[in-house]
Amino acid sequence: MNLERFLLQLEQRHPGEPEFQQSVRDLLTSVEDRIRDDFRLEHAGIIERLAEPDRIFIFKVPWTNDQGKVIVNRAYRVQYNNALGPYKGGLRFHPQLTLGTVKMLAFEQVFKNSLTALSLGGAMGGADFDPYGKSDGELMRFCQSFMLELWNVLGPDIDIPGGDIGVGGREIGYLFGMLKKLSRRHNGTFTGKGPDWGGIGLRQEAPGYGIIYFVKSLLDQRGDSLKGKTIAVSGFGNVAHGVIAKATALGAKVVTISGPDGCIHDPEGIAGDKLDYLVEMRASNEDKVRSYSMEFPGTAYFEGEKPWKIPCDIAIPCAIQNELDHGDAKLLIANGCQLVVEGANRPCTSAALDVIESAPFTFIPGKAVNGGGVVVSTLELAQNAMKMVWTNEEVDQRLQTIMQRTYQLCGQYGKVEGGGVNYQRGANLAAFQRVAEAMIDQGTVG
Ligand code: GLU
Repeated sequence: MNLERFLLQLEQRHPGEPEFQQSVRDLLTSVEDRIRDDFRLEHAGIIERLAEPDRIFIFKVPWTNDQGKVIVNRAYRVQYNNALGPYKGGLRFHPQLTLGTVKMLAFEQVFKNSLTALSLGGAMGGADFDPYGKSDGELMRFCQSFMLELWNVLGPDIDIPGGDIGVGGREIGYLFGMLKKLSRRHNGTFTGKGPDWGGIGLRQEAPGYGIIYFVKSLLDQRGDSLKGKTIAVSGFGNVAHGVIAKATALGAKVVTISGPDGCIHDPEGIAGDKLDYLVEMRASNEDKVRSYSMEFPGTAYFEGEKPWKIPCDIAIPCAIQNELDHGDAKLLIANGCQLVVEGANRPCTSAALDVIESAPFTFIPGKAVNGGGVVVSTLELAQNAMKMVWTNEEVDQRLQTIMQRTYQLCGQYGKVEGGGVNYQRGANLAAFQRVAEAMIDQGTVG
């Protein structure tokens, strides 16, 4: 197969979806030689099949606001691939969400889930609904209307949604409540449930902890540690919170966070009360970080700016896709950053990745490192199926073991001739390998 020609056709088949096109392009390009070496992949049409989601649901979500007016949103669920296990991936509520973004996230999820070495397929969904500033009643009516349409394509062996940006404990409660009402089943069809009704400990912390466990494994192998390292983080949600908490506990100092309004530089490090304040900021329903600098003297607020100009040893973008551009990558290089770790899903733009390719620092892609959320979601499913409850210590231990294994897998597949590891290639290749082999084993239907 001529990959370049195929990728051009892909652009025509998925017009106006540059994020999705780029995601597919990056993965296929990095496994190109593997594809070329194996006639079975070509013969089984694996590439063509992987470039197309299994199915997509697009639906209308009408709901009534507090003034009694009906509002209409658009929602999606992309069931991308279930070769390794049931479809699994989050739901995102974000006003700018488009089908192209959901397809990209679903595609990434397939490979991210594959890298955990668990039995999970990949999916993603959500709506162009903005949860910020909504009352509890509005959120509940939106979630109920959303689930009314989606419930009958979900199930613990079919498709299991979880949270993502804009979908946290409160939203999952309302979504799960409606799902339970319609299906008359209280089971593991949703993850991120409350700890008293089937949820699991550490679910909120897991994505961030998982990222730091991966980084720790890498530094351990280099005879280095997080002690004394300065870290720049973006975002201030769940992922950023878990990263900051665990990195600080292991001796690092996290000096930045960011929101849609700008970024904060706190040279003393974000810890203790300051970390608790992030939760308060989120609960304030404002989606802004400015108040942090007013609350804590000695910190700086930069309106409309990103944290990448602040010198750091490790940069971890934890906010949203395309938040770190080529100019930011150059700043990180100029400031002597040693490690860039994608906490969010595809936060680095393609232009940034071009700069990063020849950068002197190590780059760890999101699909390698940010599977902690989905790992703990799987533990939640296992817990539901066994009607058991695990302790936080047990969950944390399992998460650590799985992240270490993911790290080793990426290292093994990403070995570069002459020494060193390309983690981008290692992650793509290891993840691709599992999915492709499962698809070949199962015949032509997926
Ligand atoms: N959105 C989270 C992730 O990408 C969680 C997904 C889930 O638990 O289904 O890891």
